[in-house]
Amino acid sequence: MRQDDSVLVTTEDGVVETILPLADAGEGVEQLPGLLTPGFVNCHCHLELSHLRGAIPEGIGLVNFILAVLKQRGAAPNTIQSAIKAAEDAMLDEGIVAVGDICNTTDSLPQKASGRIYYHNFIEGMGFTPEGAQGRFEAICRLFSAFAEAYPLPIETNSLTPHAPYSVSPELFRLIAGFPGNHLLSMHNQESEAENEFCLQGTGDFLRLYSALGIDIGHFKGTGQRSPGACLAHFYRNQSLILVHNLYTSEEDLRAIRGYPGLYYCLCPHANQYISGRLPDPELFMRHDAIIVLGTDSLASNHRLSILDEIRILERNYPRLPLATLLQWATSNGAQALQMDGLLGSFERGKQPGIVLISHMEGARLGREAVSRRVL
Ligand SMILES: [Zn+2]
Repeated sequence: MRQDDSVLVTTEDGVVETILPLADAGEGVEQLPGLLTPGFVNCHCHLELSHLRGAIPEGIGLVNFILAVLKQRGAAPNTIQSAIKAAEDAMLDEGIVAVGDICNTTDSLPQKASGRIYYHNFIEGMGFTPEGAQGRFEAICRLFSAFAEAYPLPIETNSLTPHAPYSVSPELFRLIAGFPGNHLLSMHNQESEAENEFCLQGTGDFLRLYSALGIDIGHFKGTGQRSPGACLAHFYRNQSLILVHNLYTSEEDLRAIRGYPGLYYCLCPHANQYISGRLPDPELFMRHDAIIVLGTDSLASNHRLSILDEIRILERNYPRLPLATLLQWATSNGAQALQMDGLLGSFERGKQPGIVLISHMEGARLGREAVSRRVL
């Protein structure tokens, strides 16, 4: 972070030209009270679930949460659309410029077509029975085509992505990973300890999920490995993968996948607190030089889609973390993870990252009262 004698020089539409000392900046310098940061990047969201805000109780655990989402996600089209618009408005207001958004439907397409925020759309596949893999794959290919046709210009980017290690069969993993041009993927990872048990030996709470859904997974006896090790072999080494949540990731897990290229670790602390009453441990990932990014998850498991709030909860619970590090996760690391760092994420010449002012801070920390807004 630079101190307050630096001047950020941009064009009128926010393309960065340079950063100068105040003494060299000449006339017309505007002074803003607070801290200037590049626009925030939200690496994990489900915009299409925005109408579920407040619908699911907190603290019910992941399997009950998934069952509740499946049961409650249907709603009238105008209810879904107005919730999506309000959620995007809120992200825009606080200075989010790009979003990695999970899509199971085309519900978010009309709002995204307004082009106010950059999106990478992760068209998500799930299905744990081997015989269902081809049908599931064809369904998400149709969804992919709908997104690709809606955005003929490369403003938005799309890819196919697997839901989670416990919900995708090896057959479906292979089809998704092998989809032509699929260079950037995302996967929910270790959001519950039950996921590790299920991957390892095929037992635990996820059997209750499949039983409740009436799906016979009697063929599955475990892989002998915890996730994500259980499924990384399905991806190609030249693919980037954003692992999301990582709430029950251990030192041993990180040692086991050390050296695997293109991995990003997305933390969604408010969503974890909402569903499981627990926070991820960022210092664990820092010890392993892992690249950390931030996400809000959806309004089904969060009260706000606010990257500032995600920074704030980490700052409060991990007071040794400098704000500069947290902001790096929220800006340049996020832009790199979404492969938008040519344009976003930092105040470098030629980029147009969005300029966000954080004000009402407590000294060098956000504290309780800090707010953010886009100034350019
Ligand atoms: Zn999610």
